[in-house]
Amino acid sequence: MRRDYKSIIREIPDFPKPGINFKDVTPLLTDKDVFHDLIDDLSDEVNDWDFSKIAVIESRGFLFGAALAYKLHKGIIITRKKGKLPHRVLRAEYELEYGTDCVEIHTDSLDKGERVLIFDDLIATGGTAEATGRLVEQCGGEVAGYLFIIDLAFLNGVEKIKRYPVRTLVAFNA
Ligand code: AMP
Repeated sequence: MRRDYKSIIREIPDFPKPGINFKDVTPLLTDKDVFHDLIDDLSDEVNDWDFSKIAVIESRGFLFGAALAYKLHKGIIITRKKGKLPHRVLRAEYELEYGTDCVEIHTDSLDKGERVLIFDDLIATGGTAEATGRLVEQCGGEVAGYLFIIDLAFLNGVEKIKRYPVRTLVAFNA
């Protein structure tokens, strides 16, 4: 890896609510050289994987995922929370601590058999990532694997998607 990204990511205690130690990735974006190195390092992780599109998860996933897709010359599948996408959608629900949430993609955003990399800035419980994988498969695609900048390893989210290849750059234990 070109840099120690863990030391650049900012930790904000009790944001957005008490007990959450929020990982603020904005310092990875503000410095042009850090951002450049990060995209190159993300690219190195999946360079030899077979996929033609990247499913990028709202909203920080968009920022890094779009740059990565440009670098690797891949298409982008926008993955959003409920009601944000204008055309025909497929929806997958996932469990939260209390209740459920869901993600949606446009049904025509991938072709049958197309291989897709799923990208987000961070995996916590893995619910969002796992649901995104289900969406890709419901649309007839194949999940080539998952890529994240940050793994909140103490939450064991990777367990939910371990039947696929998973790469993460930085792990936090609290
Ligand atoms: P999960 O579905 O639990 O894996 O949550 C992953 C999503 O929530 C990602 O899109 C993250 O950006 C966001 N997220 C969850 N926990 C944190 C955290 N501690 N700091 C920053 N973002 C988080």
